[in-house]
Amino acid sequence: MSFKEIFCQDSAIDILQRAYSSGRASHAYIFAGPEGVGKFQTASLWAKLLLCHNPIIENGSAQSCDSCRSCKLFDAGTHPDFIHVYKELREFTEDGKGKAPPVEMPVDVIREMLNAKVSNRPSLSSRKVFIVSETEKMNASSQNCMLKVLEEPPVYCCIILLCTRLEKLLPTTKSRSHIIRFGPIQENRIFEKLSEKGLDANISKYFARLAQGSLGQACNWAELEMNGANIYESKQNLINSLAQYTYPDAIELADVILSRKAKITALWSDLDEKTSKTDISRRVDKLFIQIIIAALYDAMRLNIIPELEAINFDQLKQIEKFASRFDAEIAAEKIADCFTMLQWFESNVNERLIFEHLLLSLADCDTIKI
Ligand SMILES: [Zn+2]
Repeated sequence: MSFKEIFCQDSAIDILQRAYSSGRASHAYIFAGPEGVGKFQTASLWAKLLLCHNPIIENGSAQSCDSCRSCKLFDAGTHPDFIHVYKELREFTEDGKGKAPPVEMPVDVIREMLNAKVSNRPSLSSRKVFIVSETEKMNASSQNCMLKVLEEPPVYCCIILLCTRLEKLLPTTKSRSHIIRFGPIQENRIFEKLSEKGLDANISKYFARLAQGSLGQACNWAELEMNGANIYESKQNLINSLAQYTYPDAIELADVILSRKAKITALWSDLDEKTSKTDISRRVDKLFIQIIIAALYDAMRLNIIPELEAINFDQLKQIEKFASRFDAEIAAEKIADCFTMLQWFESNVNERLIFEHLLLSLADCDTIKI
């Protein structure tokens, strides 16, 4: 893969290319932006370029050569001067063996996989590059531990922090890093990508809208769908139910969601053995909440700007019926509640409680307040 193939992140790549050509690559970067917009891919290409022995420079744009020993080891995932730090590495730390996959980035991972390795000089290339994933899941003690290396990184070091929520990083972490922003991907470009994969046009269009700029999420859903996950069918059934269910049906509807969710989670775990089951389970919970949020957005907009095209363009009648339950203000409140629910998943609140609570609340806005 080359920088040219990174989708719609020209300005971020331009900043990196200019830094490279002027010989002023930073020692610490934060790649900030939504999930699934190419932050990790860009960081990997940047790492490979910094480590490459014979970089190719054409028209002011640098690229790794793909053929030197460094590039070959990088592609094989065995480069001694490249370290990917992620929370699941806890099981390889001194005290982490046999522990469940962590929700936050454990301080032990930072101490043993980053801090302890920064001081070892590079052995093959002139630099040593670290990518730290999901830094929005670092608590204060992990960040304070990491600050020790961000304060005075060795000259050969480049540390790239990937982050979906910049506000979760301490001001001291941000001030010591060069922040590069990655924007959401345009809906029509996501649609094109999904169609290229051979996904049905209606499903591609819905996923492209639901993903809200996250190409990575949309591609994950597309792969699952093509492997029989029936996400689209689940969403159609859910919107049908939302349009007509009543308060007593809420618990049963939560059951239906949870059983669909379990099937999708099992399939996703089979397809992606690298990611922890807890994370996959959360992603699927989040997907169902996103589907509900999209229906509420449609309901809200229908009441304010009816000519705007809906995310659920394929179920307008049901959305109209659903919208009749809310005025725009209540729909907006319910959307805010859904985002609170997303935080609850992160805090390990029982998923059944969350779905039941949300569906009861949507069925009877006047009597149940969250
Ligand atoms: Zn090379």
